[in-house]
Amino acid sequence: MGTGSQAVLAVLGRGLVDPASAVVRVDDSGLTRGDGCFEGCRVLDGAIDKLDLHLARMARSAAALEIPFDEAAWRDLAALAVSAWKHPGEAAMKLLLTRGPTGFAAIGPLPPDYPRQRRDGLRVVTLDRGFASDAFASAPWLLGGVKSLSYAVNMAAQREAVRRGADDVIFVSTDGVVLEAPTGSVVWSVGRTLHTTPPGATGILAGTTQRRLFERATDTGWRTELTLGTVDDLRAADVVWLVGSVRGPVDVVAIDGTPRDRNPVVDGEIRRLAGF
Ligand code: PLP
Repeated sequence: MGTGSQAVLAVLGRGLVDPASAVVRVDDSGLTRGDGCFEGCRVLDGAIDKLDLHLARMARSAAALEIPFDEAAWRDLAALAVSAWKHPGEAAMKLLLTRGPTGFAAIGPLPPDYPRQRRDGLRVVTLDRGFASDAFASAPWLLGGVKSLSYAVNMAAQREAVRRGADDVIFVSTDGVVLEAPTGSVVWSVGRTLHTTPPGATGILAGTTQRRLFERATDTGWRTELTLGTVDDLRAADVVWLVGSVRGPVDVVAIDGTPRDRNPVVDGEIRRLAGF
């Protein structure tokens, strides 16, 4: 997120500040240890998309980290930030809370590669996430389902994808179960059934975009299932998407270098249902 003229920054307890100003102390454990949580939200024509779902998930993340979270104060902070954002169309908002405690809401432009990825689809590589698909059962200290600040592994995986000539990653467990992407949920369709990986023991983040998509899809006659799928299941699926709040659903056009046919009819329907 840029800190130039195309940015807005609202700090918890301070209000709107110059987006280039310093807001984090050097000893903030959010900075030194990634000890905190965040949300990434879509701003569309001055409105925050599914803010309630984001605040509810941030409250759950903060509770898991045992960091106090005042939901009403965050709602006010997000509203303050968006009131200062004067650009029509799409933007990206980050809500970020550390144990510090530092809290801020920052708004900036869409990541520059998103329009191309939406148009051309995503080439993905599958990468081993290094744990079994039930590793998070009865292990709350592993912070499964928590949107913590510790995303260094996720970013390293995306760099590995780029090194391999791809755009993004699908993480797979050591026992071969499709998990999630570094910044998105994995959804696949077979006929009129949409599948995604169950949260819980898998440790994946419960996606707000996937959740709303499944609710709306159910209303329009789709079946939805939580499935422990394999990469072969993805290869056999009609369409595979990576799904996230800011990028939306984007269809996968290649898995590990093997191209997939696109299906503009189903893809268009799913993107529209998700609000993109
Ligand atoms: N999984 C991970 C690891 C994520 O970081 C994200 C979003 O950033 C998602 C899934 C998708 O969540 P949402 O649809 O709420 O953005």
